[in-house]
Amino acid sequence: MPITCLQCEDAACVKACQYNALTRNEKTGAIELNEKKCVKCSACLGACPFGNVLLENNSGRFVKCDLCLGEPMCAKFCPSKTLEYK
Ligand code: SF4
Ligand code: SF4
Ligand code: SF4
Repeated sequence: MPITCLQCEDAACVKACQYNALTRNEKTGAIELNEKKCVKCSACLGACPFGNVLLENNSGRFVKCDLCLGEPMCAKFCPSKTLEYK
């Protein structure tokens, strides 16, 4: 079941990050994670009520949906067009 990031207006992940590593891209509206600033504290992962911040097991990176910089690949490649980007 796909659970997509809501890019929340009052985002708990942003509030939880003490390192200014999560900021909104004003062009796309997406909240993006800056890996150069991320200290891997996991606060955002715990704060998101929908489980939309993920920890990649193999790399140890924290990741979240960034709307693919304005061209969501999940919607593009969804064969039934169940996922749409509006
Ligand atoms: S990661 Fe969670 S809290 Fe942050 S914008 Fe997405 S849904 Fe909202
Ligand atoms: S894991 Fe990174 S992005 Fe998340 S709260 Fe910590 S420093 Fe911020
Ligand atoms: S494919 Fe892109 S838009 Fe879709 S969930 Fe992943 S990062 Fe977000």
